Parts: sequence; C-alpha cells; structure tokens
Amino acid sequence: MKKNEIVEVEITDLSYEAMGVGHVDGETVFVNNALPGEIVKAKILKTKKAFAFAKIEEIIKESPDRVKVPLRQYLQTGLASLAHLKYDKQLEFKQQQVAELLKKVHLDQIKVNATLPSPLQDSYRNKAQVPVREVNGKLEIGFFRRHSHDLVPLEDFFTNDKEIDRVLLAVRDILRENHVPAYDEVKHQGEVRYLEVRRGIATGEIMVILVCLHKEFPGLAKVVDEIKEIAGVKSIFLNHNPRKTNVILGTSDYLLWGKRYIDDKIGDLTFEISPQSFFQINSSQTPRLYDLAIKQAGLKDSDLIVDAYSGIGTIGLSAAKYVKEVRGVEVVKAAVKDAKNNARINQIHNAKYYAGKAEDLMPKWAEKGLKTDVIFVDPPRKGLSPDFIEAAVKTGPEKIVYISCNPATLVRDMQLFMEKGYTTDEVSPVDMFPQTPHVECVTVLERTQND
Ligand code: SAH
Repeated sequence: MKKNEIVEVEITDLSYEAMGVGHVDGETVFVNNALPGEIVKAKILKTKKAFAFAKIEEIIKESPDRVKVPLRQYLQTGLASLAHLKYDKQLEFKQQQVAELLKKVHLDQIKVNATLPSPLQDSYRNKAQVPVREVNGKLEIGFFRRHSHDLVPLEDFFTNDKEIDRVLLAVRDILRENHVPAYDEVKHQGEVRYLEVRRGIATGEIMVILVCLHKEFPGLAKVVDEIKEIAGVKSIFLNHNPRKTNVILGTSDYLLWGKRYIDDKIGDLTFEISPQSFFQINSSQTPRLYDLAIKQAGLKDSDLIVDAYSGIGTIGLSAAKYVKEVRGVEVVKAAVKDAKNNARINQIHNAKYYAGKAEDLMPKWAEKGLKTDVIFVDPPRKGLSPDFIEAAVKTGPEKIVYISCNPATLVRDMQLFMEKGYTTDEVSPVDMFPQTPHVECVTVLERTQND
C-alpha cells in the first residue's frame, strides 16, 4: 500500500480506538469510521512498516449497525468517534474488547458481563474543556481534528450537558465582542487557550475556567462582569498556563469571581468540586458505577477500607456508612482538601484522607503494620504500579475492588494480583463514555490463600 492509493477492503474488526480493521495483500489497514462487515473504498493516508491508515472514500457495502451521525465533525474530531455505531453494538464492542484482552493472557475462564448501559447516551458530560483558536479571523471554540491541532469549530458538542454548551457559546460570544485574542500555538501568543465549563448536574451550579497564557489581559474585568451574568454561573476562575505545551491546564488557578467550588450530588451525598479536582464526568452513570462496586465489595461494619486514587473522596464517602473506617489517598492536594471538606459537610466522621502518591503511601502503611479489609483502587489509565500491588497485598485485604478506565492495564494488574493469591470470576464493563471507545470496568479480586 502506498500513500494516496485507493484500495478496496473488507472490514473485519474494530480496533480499540474504534478504527475499522481490514487487510490488503496480507498487510493491516486501519480505516477511520469504517465498521466490521463493511466493504469500503479507502484512500491510504499514511503507511508504516506493518500497517497503514486510511479514510473512507466510498462505502460499497454498508453495515446494518451503522447510524447516521448528525454532524460529521463528531467523527472527524474524535469527540465521539464511535457515534456511527448503534448504541447496543457499542456496548457489545466494549464487552468484547475486555474479553479479548483476557483471552490473550489465557484468562478466558473469567466471565465478562454485558456492559451496563448509560442512562443518557448523549449530553451526558458534566464537564467540557474546549480549545479556543482563531479560524478565518474569528475566535472559535471546537475540537481538534483527530491526530492534529486543526480546530474544527463547533456549536453543539453532542456529548456535553446542554446547559454546558449554552455557557460555552455565551462565553465565546463575550470573548468575541471584547476582541480578546485567541491563543496562537505556533507563535505562542494571544490570551485564551481553552475554555473549561463544569456543571453540578444535581444543583445547576456552573464553574467557568478561562485557561490563559497570561495571568491578566486588557479588558479581563469587563469579560468577567459579563460572564457572571450568564444564568447558572457561580464561579469564575483564570487558570494560568504560560508554557509551550499540549497539557491543557497550568498549575495556578486564580478566582476571578464567585465561589471557589461548585456543589454536586451523588446519591444523597453532596460534593464540593474545585477547579483541578477530578469528578466522574457522567453524572447519570456514576451512582450506578459506585453502587455496583460497593455492592460487590460485600462490606462489613468492622471493615477498614482504603480508597486509593480517591479524588474528592466520592467512593470512600459513599461506602463510609457501611464500614468502620475509610482511609483515602490521592496525589492532587486540592482534591484531598475537597475530600476532607466533603467528609465534613456530609457529617462523615470515619474517613481520613492523605495527600501523596498511592505507590509511596501504601508501602509506608504496610510497613507500619496496617491491616485492611477491602481496598478500592480507581487509578488513571496507566493503572497500578507493582510496588503498590505488593504493598496493598501485604496489608492482607480480603478483597480488592478494581475500578478501571483502561482494560489493558486492568488485565495486566489482575495477573499480578492473581500471582499473589487473589482471584476473580467476572469483570463488569460500565459505559461511562457513550459514543466513544473508552471502556470502564469493575472487578473484585478475592483472596484465596492465606500467606
Ligand atoms: N475515585 C475518584 C477519582 C478517580 S480518578 C472518583 O471516582 O471520582 C483517578 C484519581 O487518581 C485522580 O483524582 C488523580 O488525581 C489521582 N491520581 C493519579 N495518580 C495518582 C497516584 N500516583 N497516587 C494517588 N492518586 C493519583
């Protein structure tokens, strides 16, 4: 296959990034937005040693599972790169992905349950971070086209809560009217790099964060005056990111107006969320995820549980009423502060939160002789470190409840726990991210040996 060549290819599989997979003369080709069962004419965009990337020129045979996507941008941008697949097939795709990863390491005796569907299949996100750039002389918000930094202007973000889109557009218009320069990546100049909007779905409280190259710019006070008039806005921050980087947020947040946090609820608990704190983005599905994890943990009122990678304390505080003690660990200091505060405002007195890396604190606790009953882990995509696993096991938990946003590292870590005498017979995918290929899972590893 050569660049710009047109090939006819039958799609036999879907990659974990939701690309259609086919073969031409024994070589693999990944075709953007193509689905299994389809025959397409595809144009080769890029070739590597063992495979090529291509885009659809024409669909010769269409899959019955294809749905019309209202705006092509959703696919182009990667914002919702699975939106062209029927929702029930998306759920199957996620289940199969986990099953295949387990099979690869000969763990196919572990059952993968059907993916728990999300109550909302679009407009489910309670947080948006969108790039701000100048396109054809106009300040625009939108999304970067997949594998690029070309901004595709958007007005309907599809997966965002509709109120969030309303605020994004209102802020965009205020920036335009006040002639605030958008950030220019190449020249590393301009002002606003990203807009972030978070909304407490249960309370309606909205936080607006202007991610800026400089701490201040001419006209900022007027911009803030206008943003605070947008219905629902309770908090406005400037996040200062002066660096030449792809990382969205800088390290410093300056409160420009209103509250330092917004409130949201999970079940009957209230949570205060500050700008840099992690909060699950699918509010309709989060309580179902936590309920599943907590139910499967089989908690007892004598238990000491650890909530590792605790964020603002949501899982541990949801479990606190069933157990004797909760001990949380989280690396982001602001989130630990939020967690302590959240324990206090919900009158939970048996939860303590510690700032630090889980892989540093857990070994210290193990050395001091801490005994645990259940450990909840909810790490970022890279999963757990062997040091953490080693130390966690030393504290002798009956169960490890693993909540994972990356099945590849989940399966890797499950094997390490299994070597240490833990076992599980099922994994439950939970759809936190409809229309995208992201897979969230819960599994409970139980101790089988006493060593
Ligand atoms: N359990 C929480 C947060 C999950 S997200 C919830 O459901 O809302 C993962 C969290 O792990 C984030 O808050 C992130 O800041 C934190 N984190 C990332 N690396 C870490 C590390 N090495 N040690 C402890 N926490 C870490």
